[in-house]
Amino acid sequence: MSQQSLYRRYRPRRFSEVRGQEHIVRALRNAISGETAGQAYLFSGPRGTGKTTTARILAKVLNCTDVRDGEPCGECESCLAMDAGSSYDLFELDAASNNGVDAMRDLISRAAVGSPGRTKVYILDEVHMLSAAASNALLKTLEEPPDHVTFVLATTDPQKVLPTIRSRTQHFEFSLLSAEQLEDYVRWVVADAGLSVDDAGVAHVVRAGRGSARDMLSALDQVVAAGGVLDRPEVLAELAAAVGDRDTSRALVAVAEALDQGRDPRVVGEALLGALRDAFLVAVGAPAGHLSDADRTAAANLGGEIGAAGLTRALELLGAALIEMRQAADPRIPLEVALVRITDSSTDTTLGGLAERVSQLEREVARVRLAAPAGEGGDATPSRRSPSGQAISRPAAPAPRDIPPPPSRSAAASKSPPPVPETARPPSIATTSTAPLQAGSIPTAAQLTAALNDVVLPQLRAVARAVFAGGRFTTVDGGVATFALPNGPMLERAGKARADVEAALTGYFGQAVTLTLVVDGGSSAPAPVSTGDSPIADQAPSPGPESDECVDLSELTDATDVAGGGANKLTQAFPGAVVVEEDQ
Ligand SMILES: [Zn+2]
Repeated sequence: MSQQSLYRRYRPRRFSEVRGQEHIVRALRNAISGETAGQAYLFSGPRGTGKTTTARILAKVLNCTDVRDGEPCGECESCLAMDAGSSYDLFELDAASNNGVDAMRDLISRAAVGSPGRTKVYILDEVHMLSAAASNALLKTLEEPPDHVTFVLATTDPQKVLPTIRSRTQHFEFSLLSAEQLEDYVRWVVADAGLSVDDAGVAHVVRAGRGSARDMLSALDQVVAAGGVLDRPEVLAELAAAVGDRDTSRALVAVAEALDQGRDPRVVGEALLGALRDAFLVAVGAPAGHLSDADRTAAANLGGEIGAAGLTRALELLGAALIEMRQAADPRIPLEVALVRITDSSTDTTLGGLAERVSQLEREVARVRLAAPAGEGGDATPSRRSPSGQAISRPAAPAPRDIPPPPSRSAAASKSPPPVPETARPPSIATTSTAPLQAGSIPTAAQLTAALNDVVLPQLRAVARAVFAGGRFTTVDGGVATFALPNGPMLERAGKARADVEAALTGYFGQAVTLTLVVDGGSSAPAPVSTGDSPIADQAPSPGPESDECVDLSELTDATDVAGGGANKLTQAFPGAVVVEEDQ
């Protein structure tokens, strides 16, 4: 049995078989029945919506010897010749490739000659592609068409057709089909052809059809040939893994395998886009309720490998490629180019590409840091934002002073939740910060620090980013992380972005992370006023835990040590710089 493509097999042969263009076929059938058919039609609409097919049915019914209710009989000599493509009464011209005036003169000279049937029908596809001279020649013919001739002009772009031509035609606009219409149709075809296609396959071809019955049937052909469709196919997992590893050749091999299995490049691209989008949602802690637990884990892993900046860039590149693929002669090329750029940022000198390379380096640094023995605690020392070279070299030769001494660890751990504002807490308090490692997978302060720098900070607005970059994680206790900021004003600003940071960290680690913001120096309260100024702290009455929330922020003043000192350093570094008040 010869395998005829579903697209050919189910190409409509009567008006009633044309899907989704009811208003057009009704008007045409009425015109035929009432013998009021025009001599020039303009069919416009997106590709694959049935313009040419409808024009052929019109040609058939105009020459049928047994018209019934505005439909061709499909059995007379003329109808059979039309279906076989051998009728002398139908002449089709692709204006995209025959756009010159000679082709048009040839066509017009034929139009003057009689034909065996009642009506000679000319279908001019992509009529907007005609040259100006050819358009004018056509216009002359349309002004005084021979009696036995009907023109059907088809175009995807009616705005480019000469207005004088448009005004001499009856204009019908073909529209894309809705997903419901396509699904009805594909289910009918599957049943009629006795195919075995499951719901996932139906959903896939409806998506691939993008509103076009023709494209949908082509996709259905592919699904049938490939023996079904995998909703989350292994090739997608392989492709996503290759992107995560930035392995260009592996990514291209995965695409080639998917295409060999009969998948449309657009389907492959869209599937990857979906996976990247899921990874992005999980990475930023956005709701991703559509994901199963396994998918969420996979998305979190992919997001961890690519990083927020890399995900943003990959989504942009792939999104642009998908748009380009719609127009491309070979849609796999834009997909492959996008994958090369996504997996190998050294080929990409755009700002996004450079940002991705920086972020990649930062992640490497974070990875080396995380690989250091737990509790080493270098990250939480005041110098944790030291140049990356220092951070990399540290695990190789851990300095003995970085290891927290046991006595100080237990003292800090017991004191940390309800703070007693002590005077002149020694700077070495910082070394206790990573000591209380929690059981299970609760992140350590070092891991939180790495995640903050790697994933969270790049997502924050400038002010919040600067504020959180200036603080540090001190202790972690049962999923509650204490984050210390240098002074009251910074604490206040950090408070505004705290929910965002918590959400991002929660998304990153896959479990709730709550932040307690404190002013650095050991106090867990939004401590009154100044920092680093022990005499004032001494005078203040000892704040109990219940007084934590009630601090009048308007009374807070900028601490001189950080705000002033930082500004001074900047103004020294940039002669002529002026300090201005920040817009709140
Ligand atoms: Zn007929």
